[in-house]
Amino acid sequence: MKNQMELTFLSQPENEAFARMVISAFLVRVNPTLSVVSEVRTAVSEAVTNAVVHAYDTRDGRILLRAGIEGDVLTVEVEDFGRGIANVEEAMQPFFTTQPDQERTGMGFALMQSFMDVLRVQSAPDCGTVVHMEKSLVEA
Ligand code: ATP
Ligand code: MG
Repeated sequence: MKNQMELTFLSQPENEAFARMVISAFLVRVNPTLSVVSEVRTAVSEAVTNAVVHAYDTRDGRILLRAGIEGDVLTVEVEDFGRGIANVEEAMQPFFTTQPDQERTGMGFALMQSFMDVLRVQSAPDCGTVVHMEKSLVEA
């Protein structure tokens, strides 16, 4: 099975739920287990929430959601063109957050890591961030 999709939307909190719906709908064709769907939804939601919350102050910026299925592997990318992350390794540590006052716990990347098989983050200050994730659709 092979398929691909790409979607652009604005950095508004309402689009977190929209992105969850889109990725779920994209997965329907491969008849995924409930746990795969819920793990992928959570990972995508965390990545999109990060782009909404951290990438673009208050302005509307573009967020891209790309997904592909190749054989039994799902690939998802969430890209923004915002402020970027100066130190990706540090940002990916559990409990690291730059917004402790906003009741953020710094668990977003840790959740993506635990629910997906592959997590790679590429970022450049003032250029943006790409979160690349992969997950096997057949349960071990
Ligand atoms: P939580 O996800 O638990 O609400 P959080 O968003 O702060 O808290 P992570 O999702 O792990 O935690 O992200 C860690 C830090 O990485 C963020 O505090 C932020 O500084 C930075 N970050 C993450 N994604 C982006 C992004 N798309 N653009 C800019 N900075 C980001
Ligand atoms: Mg987060």
